Formats: sequence, structure tokens, C-alpha cells
Amino acid sequence: MIQDIEEQFTDTVDIVDRLATLGARYDAAPNFPVESMAALIRSGHHRRFAPQGCGGQAFDSEAARNRAMAKNLRQVGRGDLSIGRLYEGHVNAMLLFDWYGTSEQHRWLTHALDSGAWFGVWATEKAPGVRLTQVGNASLSGEKIFASGAGGLDYALVTAASTDHARRLVIVSASDKARADLSGWRVRGMRASASGRYSLEGVAVEPLMLLGEPGDYDLDPRFTAGAWRFCATQLGGIEALVLEIQRSMCDGARANPVQRARFADAVVAMRTAGLWVAKSAESFAAGHENAVTMARLTRRVVENAGFTVMEAAARILGTQSAFDGQRTDKIIRDLSLYLRQGGPDHAHDEAAKTLLDHDIWSGGERLW
Ligand SMILES: Cc1cc2nc3c(=O)[nH]c(=O)nc-3n(C[C@H](O)[C@H](O)[C@H](O)COP(=O)(O)OP(=O)(O)OC[C@H]3O[C@@H](n4cnc5c(N)ncnc54)[C@H](O)[C@@H]3O)c2cc1C
Repeated sequence: MIQDIEEQFTDTVDIVDRLATLGARYDAAPNFPVESMAALIRSGHHRRFAPQGCGGQAFDSEAARNRAMAKNLRQVGRGDLSIGRLYEGHVNAMLLFDWYGTSEQHRWLTHALDSGAWFGVWATEKAPGVRLTQVGNASLSGEKIFASGAGGLDYALVTAASTDHARRLVIVSASDKARADLSGWRVRGMRASASGRYSLEGVAVEPLMLLGEPGDYDLDPRFTAGAWRFCATQLGGIEALVLEIQRSMCDGARANPVQRARFADAVVAMRTAGLWVAKSAESFAAGHENAVTMARLTRRVVENAGFTVMEAAARILGTQSAFDGQRTDKIIRDLSLYLRQGGPDHAHDEAAKTLLDHDIWSGGERLW
């Protein structure tokens, strides 16, 4: 059991530095980041949030588990946001196995993790999307887009729709290079996340590969409030950028009150985002009815913090922040793309509607 979370993360500095060093290489020559993922296996990240019966770590409570998760996601994001994206997908998959997997599927997962398998969750698609056909032997049609780790991960949980039911999760192989198309993944950042297209046309579906029931994946608060996890990962990138500004700020800028104020504002934005991510993780762990709104608001707080810190980097460091090969440049390129998650204004507007109706602050602090 975890008594002191801090003690569990003595590997923090090592893994952040290791991912950052490897990240520069994978950014320059984007291939699936095999060595970075291997480093995460060695550091224990790979299995930490798997179901307990599959070798996942035992935590004192859901709150402790989510606190540890936030810390791990931030840490990996601080090293390299592309790996953060892949890791966040893997953690999401472990949770989905935990919530919806049968004992037979947990046995299968244990073997897969024993062999070092990495998982993703692929939901994004263009219409008509991925469908599960039930005529004769079940099989899939269609393709996923923005499929992080396409052709490089071992397995993905994909959403599939069918005529009679809500969409459901199917476990598929993600490593078939002939099905992966990375030709369109020509992006300024997040290159090593390899978020290409993946064809699922004709993939046969055994009953063991159906995870949960139709509709399970979309159940709230888990689905919408789960956004806190990508916020935590993005926060890691923001923290890495603040660290770079602090390290690289020249003496002239340090002696200047305007630049100092800018740096302080960047730190406040970063720490504010940290408080919201922690609060959001806590609400998620408690299964609070406000968890969905907390996560939606956290998305906006983290997005704004990202913009503040990226602007501070440009204004404090000048052109140095934009040179190829500079860590600052890579973090900004990665962060600016990774912050672009689905429907940001819609999410914020939904939160605003809720707030107009009632305050969501927990701990007896509600004002209306
Ligand atoms: C690096 C990276 C990795 C990813 N990995 C995965 C993954 O592994 N699995 C997965 O399932 N998904 C993944 N995604 C996809 C992600 O979850 C989002 O679907 C995607 O980022 C949204 O892209 P978009 O901004 O182009 O959104 P779009 O929905 O195409 O919107 C584009 C713009 O139009 C605006 N817009 C759209 N509709 C409206 C409207 N009705 N009203 C007002 N404005 C509107 C949006 O706010 C946005 O600014 C990944 C994305 C990235 C960037």
C-alpha cells in the first residue's frame, strides 16, 4: 500500500530527463518511440495503473490512486508530451479494463502486460466511422483517425457502432503496419505520438475482444470527467516550459521588473492549473456529480495556462525560444498541438450552463 506518495517517485528526475533526451531524437526523426516506452517499462509506469489482479499497484483509496496518476501523467508529460499522450492512452485503457473487463479478459491482459504490451484508446473517426457487423462472424469496418501509436502500440481499445446498440469497445491489434497510415501525420509537434490513421476493415472480432457492454465507454461521469487525465499530461508540458524559462532567462531579463513579472505570472498560471488538475482528479476519484463540470473547467484553465506560459517563453527568451534543437522550441510545438483537444468551447459552455444553475465547489463551500 502507498503510505507516502512522494517516496514512490524517486525515479522522477531520471525518467523525466531520459524521456526529454530521447524525445529530442524522436522529434527530429519521428519513429514509434520504442526506447522511451521501454524506459517507462523499466521505471514501473507501464503496469502501475493496471487492474490490481493484473499486477497493478495497490493504493489505499481511489483518491490516492488518482493522486498518483496525476503525478505520473505530469511527470511523463514533463519529459516528452508525445510520450505523455501515448501513456495517457495506456492509462485510460487500464482503467477501462479495470471497470469493464471480465476475469478472462484480466487473465489475457496480465499475459499481454507480461510481454510488455502497450495499449491505446482510439475513438476519433470521420463519418460513418467504425462499425461492428453482426452478420455471420462479427467483424469491423471503417478506420480511426488521430490514432496515437498507430502501427507501434500492441493493442487499442476502439469504439465501434452497430445498428441496434450504442457504441462499444473492441480490443484490436494496433501493431499491423499495413493497416497504419502515418503519411498524413506531418505536424509541427507531437510527432512521436504517431497519431495517424488505422484501418479496421475486415478485422474479425472474437467474443473475448468485446470489452464491456454497449454504452459503457460513454458512461458519465467517467467519460467526460476523465478529461482531467489529458489535462494532467498537458500540465506536465507547461511545467517543463516554465523550468526551461527559469533556466534560460538571461541576466538582463532577470534584472528587468517587466520580465520578472512575466515569469511570476507564468508560474502562477502553471500552479493554478496544477490546483485545478488536483481538484479535478479528486472529484473524479470521489465520483462527485460535479466531476464532469470540474474537468470541463480544468480544460480551459490548463489551456489558458499553456497560452500564458508559451507567450512568456517567447517574450522572455526571444528568438532563442524558436530555434530548431532547443528544448523550448520542441515543448512549445508539442504543447500548442496537444492543447487542441475536441470541442473546447463546447466543453466550456456546458460548464458555464451548469455554473449558472448552481455552484460546483465541494467541501461545504458552495455559494449558490
Ligand atoms: C496529438 C494528438 C493525439 C491524439 N490522439 C488520439 C487518440 O489516440 N485517440 C483518439 O480517439 N483521439 C485522439 N486525438 C483526437 C482528439 O481527441 C480530438 O478529437 C482532436 O484533437 C480534435 O481535433 P480538432 O481540433 O481538429 O477538432 P474538430 O472537432 O475537427 O474541430 C476543429 C475546430 O473547429 C471548432 N469547432 C468544431 N465544431 C464546432 C462547433 N459546432 N461550434 C464551434 N466550433 C466548432 C473546434 O472548437 C476546433 O477549434 C488526438 C489529437 C491530437 C492532437
